[in-house]
Amino acid sequence: MAGSAERTPIIAGNWKMHKTPLEAEELVRALLPQVAPAGDREVVRCPPFPALAAVVAACRGTRVAVGAQNLHWEREGAFTGEVSAPMLVAVGCRYVIVGHSERRQYCGEDDWLVNRKLKAALAAGLRPILCVGETLAQRELGITEAVCAIQLKSALAGLAAGDLEPLVIAYEPVWAIGTGRTASASDAQEVIAFLRSLLARDYGTALAQQVPILYGGSVKPENIGALMAQADIDGALVGGASLDAASFAAIVNF
Ligand code: PEP
Repeated sequence: MAGSAERTPIIAGNWKMHKTPLEAEELVRALLPQVAPAGDREVVRCPPFPALAAVVAACRGTRVAVGAQNLHWEREGAFTGEVSAPMLVAVGCRYVIVGHSERRQYCGEDDWLVNRKLKAALAAGLRPILCVGETLAQRELGITEAVCAIQLKSALAGLAAGDLEPLVIAYEPVWAIGTGRTASASDAQEVIAFLRSLLARDYGTALAQQVPILYGGSVKPENIGALMAQADIDGALVGGASLDAASFAAIVNF
């Protein structure tokens, strides 16, 4: 099993822009009986905003937590179309994905914005799942660690170790997201161990040993075993395969 005894493995599903509230409820109802026995893992579902309330209701009283895929950095105000951290808490979210590469790529989110969103999530009591990862061009240039280090350091700027206990990190190489190409388990382990070493350097060993670091990028039932066997990989952020109850359950139950 992955990681250290101190860290509870987390399997989180990012549904992206899929599922109406009704479809979301059906998916959760199909999943719940299949993940009930998976006692030592935290299971998180991240549907689109309109389906959050339905998924929270369907998961009430179960071991499945609910997260959002994005948030605004202000608590309220004239920000048409946006949703704040306190609103997510009010609807029953415990987690929120921050800095996903699709938001960086398609919505212009930069490291400064990611930092503000991360702070807003922590201030509201949400567990942020902070995504970092390199593009294929950056990997081929040999700058994977530099890119991930900049993303991590900028996202955590202005925060102290004491603020970061709820933090979850997901290492998601951009070239592996939705492509069917997974980083090899040893490549993922190498980057994740590097991220943990940065946390240790900047925030101390205790925090570094406590923060769960997930891998994301074409995780499937077939490759979860090799990933979870790595010392520093504490779970997975799953996109495509989380939209199928049997596949997601197989990943959770590995
Ligand atoms: C993701 O969206 O975070 C993701 C990892 O997607 P996929 O599993 O489809 O690659």
